[in-house]
Amino acid sequence: MCNVIILGSPGGGKGTICKKLLKNFEFTHVSTGDLLRSHISGQTTLGLKAEKYINEGKLVPDDLVIGLIQQLKTDKSLLLDGFPRTLHQAFSLGNVMTIDSVIALDIPHETIINRLSNRWVHAPSGRTYANDYNPPKVSGIDDVTGEKLTQREDDKPDTIRTRLENYQKQTAPLIEYYKNNTNVHFQIFSGTESDVIYPEVADFLHSRFAV
Ligand code: AMP
Repeated sequence: MCNVIILGSPGGGKGTICKKLLKNFEFTHVSTGDLLRSHISGQTTLGLKAEKYINEGKLVPDDLVIGLIQQLKTDKSLLLDGFPRTLHQAFSLGNVMTIDSVIALDIPHETIINRLSNRWVHAPSGRTYANDYNPPKVSGIDDVTGEKLTQREDDKPDTIRTRLENYQKQTAPLIEYYKNNTNVHFQIFSGTESDVIYPEVADFLHSRFAV
């Protein structure tokens, strides 16, 4: 088992890098953001509690999110996307599994604000479009179903600013934490284009996975 964490600001391309990694490596992908959104659409108790925090661009309280991770059952290596996001979550994670590698994406905030405010989604399927680099065929309409696209409540400009501030305060300390952890293979990847960053990330993981 070679569990990997991908760390980085919201909108910093974690999702895109994960999609590429899943094509080339045998991982179970765990995105706490996706899990929480599916709880919200299913109107579960957790979803009802989490929704208000997510829509305000705040982190969901640690105990709610840690519960999600403790329930995971898989015999494949995990690719953890969006978890941990606080030191407390990192400590709890350390109690339930060993982390082999940490990929830290370092993307300029200006790039992120542009990217997130251009992101549109087809909520039922999770298909994502970006007005600049993969626009839908018809503006505002999903290519597959013809249904309307929406903007995530937390991708609106004021909320993006709050998310980035919270990232700086609550999640950025994890970079130092994992950098100083001698049992973890840690690397920072800087840049603005996931097509450029991805081959470097894949090389880093190839050195850990014999594929
Ligand atoms: P994401 O799709 O990863 O950007 O997550 C969307 C939102 O879900 C975040 O802005 C948080 O409100 C919440 N969230 C996701 N993962 C976590 C986590 N590990 N801890 C707290 N909140 C989280």
